[in-house]
Amino acid sequence: MIDLGAIYLAVTGALLLVALGAGLRVLRGIVREGRDLRRRRRAGEVEKYTEDEEYGPGSADDSSHSTATCPQCGAANESGFDYCRRCAAPLRPGA
Ligand SMILES: [Zn+2]
Repeated sequence: MIDLGAIYLAVTGALLLVALGAGLRVLRGIVREGRDLRRRRRAGEVEKYTEDEEYGPGSADDSSHSTATCPQCGAANESGFDYCRRCAAPLRPGA
């Protein structure tokens, strides 16, 4: 008679080993990539803020994301709106 418990153990053990191997490979790749990037940054080959564009240089003046200042209360409204979100005054002349 075949011992189902032993088969189950063998299969799960093998799967666990495979998963562990794959996970370790991925982790090692991440660590190596980070180390390499840090080294290149220290050498001055890579701009410091190349990776996260959100906090990179030039994000402070976002001329593409324009706002319209309310002539009535001075609140900053997203461009594209006709009326102020605070006081509901028309943002554009003739709106
Ligand atoms: Zn307003």
